[in-house]
Amino acid sequence: MLELLLLLLPVAASSGWLAAKQHYHKEKNAPLHKHYFTGLNFLLNEQPDKAVEVFIKLLEVNTDTVEMHFALGNLFRKKGEVERSIRIHQNLIARPQLSKTQRSQALHALAKDYLSAGVLDRSERLFLDALEENNHDIESMYYLLDIYQQEKNWEQAIELAQKIQSSTGKSKHIEIAHYYCELAEKKIQSNELGAAKLFLKRAINIDKKSARALLIKAKIEDNLGNHEQAIEILKKIKEDNADYFSESIPSLISYHHHLQTEKELYSFLEKSIENCPRISSAIALTTHLQTQDFQKAKQFLADYLKQHPSLRGLFHLIELQFNIATALEKENLQLLHLLLKQLLTKSPTYLCHQCGFSGKTLLWLCPSCKQWNTTKPILGLEGE
Ligand SMILES: [Zn+2]
Repeated sequence: MLELLLLLLPVAASSGWLAAKQHYHKEKNAPLHKHYFTGLNFLLNEQPDKAVEVFIKLLEVNTDTVEMHFALGNLFRKKGEVERSIRIHQNLIARPQLSKTQRSQALHALAKDYLSAGVLDRSERLFLDALEENNHDIESMYYLLDIYQQEKNWEQAIELAQKIQSSTGKSKHIEIAHYYCELAEKKIQSNELGAAKLFLKRAINIDKKSARALLIKAKIEDNLGNHEQAIEILKKIKEDNADYFSESIPSLISYHHHLQTEKELYSFLEKSIENCPRISSAIALTTHLQTQDFQKAKQFLADYLKQHPSLRGLFHLIELQFNIATALEKENLQLLHLLLKQLLTKSPTYLCHQCGFSGKTLLWLCPSCKQWNTTKPILGLEGE
């Protein structure tokens, strides 16, 4: 509570409180400043509700201290005491004497209170009110976009992101493409594949490198039995957005297997090893070579790992070695195998390049920094 007091002291000073104190003997009646003392006393004695009561009464007779009320309200919100910040900001909004700027500030503050409390509809309404009063209120637009994302209201999010683009000149094409992908996934859930494809077309028109849109599109074609088309779509990911190439490899293997066109698959993976090396490709090629020549397969993987060290690759190599090991070697290999398995189970597969959030699932919207497209498969020793 000391921080509240420290905050209030300079405000009280600027509002005339100290000046009044200096002239205390001259001014016999100083009810305003007496109330300040009472309010501060309540804060010091850990009675914030009584303090809020006093400060709100004070506001009724004096609007010079509006800034102090904003500071107090925001501080309560930051401390997680949202009910108190809501009371303070609601009282501020009710003051007819507020200037236009102060009213807008109060609307923002109250909308942020409700957002902190998770009351999204009220927060949305207040930000919309603020936007109605000022059509170029960028801050409200960004908060509203966050709310629409939380509500999964993708149509509204698209409309607003376009408005932000035209108001600020900053591109929102990555976000808009993801909103269309979200709409496409919703349509897939209700088995409206035609409508889903239309949304994906829009996503790709906006962001030609959208790996997510290509992955979903390939899945739809697979569901419709169009495996050749699905393969062509997936191959684009390596060209357009190589960061996500590894995401396409399991499906590529599966579709080629279905069509019995493995030869074409291995030729594609062999070429990709040169310009886009991924352990998933190397393991698929090793498994294929194993069916023809065991030693050659083992040598291929060992050579790959010398150039591109990978724990997953090592794990696979140990499994291969196990087949030809002596009883004593098997004992040691088993231990190494177990340790690597534990390490791989614990290691994350995806990492957000913006904030460092990591996990085992690819989340297109980072749950930590709330950015789209920043979470990618981990490459190198511990990843692909
Ligand atoms: Zn992040």
